[in-house]
Amino acid sequence: MEVVKYPHPVLRMVCRPLRKVDAELKAMILEMFPLMYASKGVGLAANQVGLPYRFFIMNPTGDENRKDQEYVFINPEITLGAGKPEEDDEGCLSFPKIYAAVKRAPKVTITGFNLDGEPVKKVFKGFPARIVQHEFDHLNGISFVNRLSEQEADYVEDDVDRLVRNFRKEQETSESMTNEAIQKQIDELLASRAVV
Ligand SMILES: [Zn+2]
Repeated sequence: MEVVKYPHPVLRMVCRPLRKVDAELKAMILEMFPLMYASKGVGLAANQVGLPYRFFIMNPTGDENRKDQEYVFINPEITLGAGKPEEDDEGCLSFPKIYAAVKRAPKVTITGFNLDGEPVKKVFKGFPARIVQHEFDHLNGISFVNRLSEQEADYVEDDVDRLVRNFRKEQETSESMTNEAIQKQIDELLASRAVV
């Protein structure tokens, strides 16, 4: 398992709800935590590891010893809270070394299911609320660079172009990275567990 980088097509897709969480998927979800910590991340969406499903994980502390701060949200729905949007720098494991300011709602309510299939409802404010909005965006094919002001977009343009060039190069040298091969993998994953 690895974190896919922009502009991998799975990052632009609208992920599909899960109809079941089998043992194999559960193992993959648990594998995402060490991957996230190794990359110094605080959140990771399913499609960032090539899974076209609606779920994400997060730990706002980024500390692997804080298991009490680990969350898995399966088939999540969010409601943005009222209040003035807050602007702060964001990064993303699919956009290594790129940071830019994004406006987010100061508060969010999330509902969904945890890894044991139990319904969950949580309210987050500030930084954790920002993570929830960032990860939820991923599930709708939206990356943080799609939410930048014109000025911020200009600022990161060269770095984003570099990622695009790197990805195209990777596609030219690996048969498993062609758009057709990627689509085939996605279709297989959807057929096995997603709501049709
Ligand atoms: Zn991200």
